[in-house]
Amino acid sequence: YVAKKERNTCKIYSPSMNDVPKKEIMLENSMLNALELGQFMLYYQPKIDVKTGRINGAEALIRWKHPELGMVSPLDFIPIAEKTGFIIPLGEWVLYTACRQMSEWERMGLPRLTVSVNMSMIQFQQKQIVHTIERILSDAGIRPEQIELEITESIFMDNQEYTLKILHELQQLGVKLSLDDFGTGYSSLSYLQNIPLHTLKLDKSFISDIVSDYKKQMIFKSVVVIAHNLNLRVVTEGVETEEELRVIREHNCDAVQGYIFSPPVPAPKFAKLYMDHLTAEA
Ligand code: C2E
Ligand code: MG
Ligand code: MG
Ligand code: MG
Repeated sequence: YVAKKERNTCKIYSPSMNDVPKKEIMLENSMLNALELGQFMLYYQPKIDVKTGRINGAEALIRWKHPELGMVSPLDFIPIAEKTGFIIPLGEWVLYTACRQMSEWERMGLPRLTVSVNMSMIQFQQKQIVHTIERILSDAGIRPEQIELEITESIFMDNQEYTLKILHELQQLGVKLSLDDFGTGYSSLSYLQNIPLHTLKLDKSFISDIVSDYKKQMIFKSVVVIAHNLNLRVVTEGVETEEELRVIREHNCDAVQGYIFSPPVPAPKFAKLYMDHLTAEA
């Protein structure tokens, strides 16, 4: 009936043009209540120390359990949340929820680990961002050292100087900063030079085909050397096979995250996985 209504407007819609925005509009509309309705949840994916084989951290990744659409990928709704500004309350919910989860794991007696939380560039446009982060951590009873914030190059699109100032304030606060998705955008070395980073996360695209592609291996190897010379830890994302792991280990990457160990899982499953992992070691 939509087509009928618009017949006299002389617009031509192809089915694909119609479909995409429809889902987007649906997501946009249902997002506003989704937080109150408890439809968002965090999954956790372990990070494994390459040398010891131990779990040494986790990344919190948001999931939306939509009543009609099922599990919606963050790749589909984070861009919408960024466009509407909903990412501000949503991002605060993510950080608070991850911190509360850490407190709970500590109460359960799990050894402490660093949890990383993804930050959107929109959150960094908030004047109060440092204060907000500080307040959320203290509300949840988490020390800044226990948290790592994952940022991407996109946060520098706006105002580089201002963004750097914010990042230095966060470093002063004590949170760790990690540069996510390195290798997908400009991957400018000046970022590595100027940002007070703790970790460099190499994107999955860095290691796809690495086993068969010699040049790719050399690039990987060199980037790890650069990062280490700048005192950065290197984490490789999206590791799926033993062969990839072998190459990564050979070139001294510090930690890996990928399906080879575990996909992101709900919090209770992560706690079990972590405990089983610890007992297997003992
Ligand atoms: P990201 O931060 O780079 O997260 C890594 C993504 O790679 C995750 O996708 C994870 O599930 C996936 N992954 C991990 N290991 C493997 C593997 O071995 N193979 C493959 N093919 N994929 C793997 P996910 O959870 O769908 O998240 C996608 C992106 O959405 C994230 O990329 C991040 O940019 C964004 N995102 C997720 N949660 C949040 C959040 O709470 N806030 C914000 N602002 N963005 C988020
Ligand atoms: Mg990330
Ligand atoms: Mg990434
Ligand atoms: Mg990403």
